Amino acid sequence: MATKKTLSTAFGIPVGDDQNSLTAGKRGPVLMQDAHLLEKLAHFDRERIPERVVHAKGAGAYGVFECTADVSQYTKAKFLAKGKKTEVFARFSTVGGEKGSADSERDPRGFAVKFYTEDGNYDFVGNNTPVFFIRDPLKFSDFIHTQKRHPATNCKDPDMFWDFLSLTPESIHQVTILFSDRGTPATFRHMNGYSSHTFVWYNEAGERFWVQYHFKTDQGNKTLDRHQAEEMRAKDPDHATRDLYNAIEGGEFPSWTLEMQIMPYEEGLKYRYDIMDITKVWPHADAPPIVVGRLTLNRNPVNYFAEVEQAAFCPGNLVPGVAASPDKMLQARLFSYHDTHIHRLGPNYHLIPVNQPRNRPETSYQRDGFMRVDDGGGSGPNYWPNSFNGPAPDPAAKEPPFPVEGMADRQPYGHANDDFEQAGALYSKVMSDQDREHLVGNIVSHLGGAQKRIQLRQTALFFKAHSEYGTRVAQGLGLPLEEVARLAGLSQEAREEATKA
Ligand code: NDP
Repeated sequence: MATKKTLSTAFGIPVGDDQNSLTAGKRGPVLMQDAHLLEKLAHFDRERIPERVVHAKGAGAYGVFECTADVSQYTKAKFLAKGKKTEVFARFSTVGGEKGSADSERDPRGFAVKFYTEDGNYDFVGNNTPVFFIRDPLKFSDFIHTQKRHPATNCKDPDMFWDFLSLTPESIHQVTILFSDRGTPATFRHMNGYSSHTFVWYNEAGERFWVQYHFKTDQGNKTLDRHQAEEMRAKDPDHATRDLYNAIEGGEFPSWTLEMQIMPYEEGLKYRYDIMDITKVWPHADAPPIVVGRLTLNRNPVNYFAEVEQAAFCPGNLVPGVAASPDKMLQARLFSYHDTHIHRLGPNYHLIPVNQPRNRPETSYQRDGFMRVDDGGGSGPNYWPNSFNGPAPDPAAKEPPFPVEGMADRQPYGHANDDFEQAGALYSKVMSDQDREHLVGNIVSHLGGAQKRIQLRQTALFFKAHSEYGTRVAQGLGLPLEEVARLAGLSQEAREEATKA
């Protein structure tokens, strides 16, 4: 039997009574010299850290990634050597809701994996969807505002939600995925994870390849229809969090097969879609995915706050062999995640155990700051260059040089791509009859809450993706089909003009 420990203050001082505050007489008042009470109150007042602005509600677990294929011709990343096993921590999340929101909300799901590699931490920070709503980061904060609460009512607002999307035609592909039943996955275990962005892999010779990551669920894709999702929201708002924990606790370890789409550098630059455009996928026929490894989650965190709430992923944490692409959204995320973590957790968030590069400890010249809880580099030199045997840069860790070109300007993507084609292909070629029926029903039940003029503008976008798709939504909403078709034929400016408040 374990020896019973004596309760102490935060500073280890034994506590004699934890039920009665120190008072003058039986009735009080309470004395200022009750340092134990003051310490308890002051710490409680500071228990909460800022909630993530996006991806606030999540669940996480530890596990292992095993590389099962020889991909050395594409990347020199050590964790991607055939047979290599790497410890990981993964976090899944909803995006728009607060920390207490329901796991069954219609929303993309975050799918983040921290690989504790021998070259430091590699963070994969993806979603369960292969595309995104926008492709320029200047639109990001506006977009997220529309998915959250109205400034006056503090309620979710269908006008805000659809007004923005209907004025942002490049969102149509992601909107179609979100409003399919894949927008309400049955659990975190039953969904895929995608990089969505194009990344770069480079090999020992410095040759570069464009890549897309697809973690395909080995549990099979399972979804909730909107009635089941609504029911689940009321019955158990934490159902996916609970499911992940219980599955792992019961020894039923979820796994995902990592498939990669890989495109040679020059070919990618000439590809028919702009491979930096995150609203597009690379059709499988163009770049057949190859199996590269397996991710398995097999250990629950012991403390949610310490290990999940404080887990901090940053797409800029890329190890040698992996690099960023020029994707504009990715470029902004390279800044924004690190910036967010400093705000939420402080400049030394890398010292929190779940975030520590445990297989390749930090050897930097960054010093001090709030909550520097180790020896902070001890008595070693705190500048570079130095002649005191301090850590030195290794040229072998350098990313090979790459060309950039063009005029500096504020400019849209160069490819004159059709934003509607892939959404149309998803509707007409990939979805089953039931998928299409649910998609239309899910849209109608949500878009029906917005003003008619916004319904018209958005339905014209569905019509542009596929005439049957737009027609069925129009019928569901009772909109005049001729008007929807007319708007679909108009330019973006004309659609906006025709449907102004
Ligand atoms: P394929 O038939 O080769 O692949 C279709 C893909 O769609 C599969 O990966 C499948 O995932 C996925 N899928 C099925 N239902 C849905 C849904 N409701 N929402 C999102 N994805 C779904 O076709 P192509 O590669 O030629 O692409 C056709 C369309 O499929 C694209 O325009 C895109 O909308 C969608 N898609 C394509 C992906 C890609 O990387 N090429 C990835 C995901 C979607 P699963 O195998 O898990 O069932």
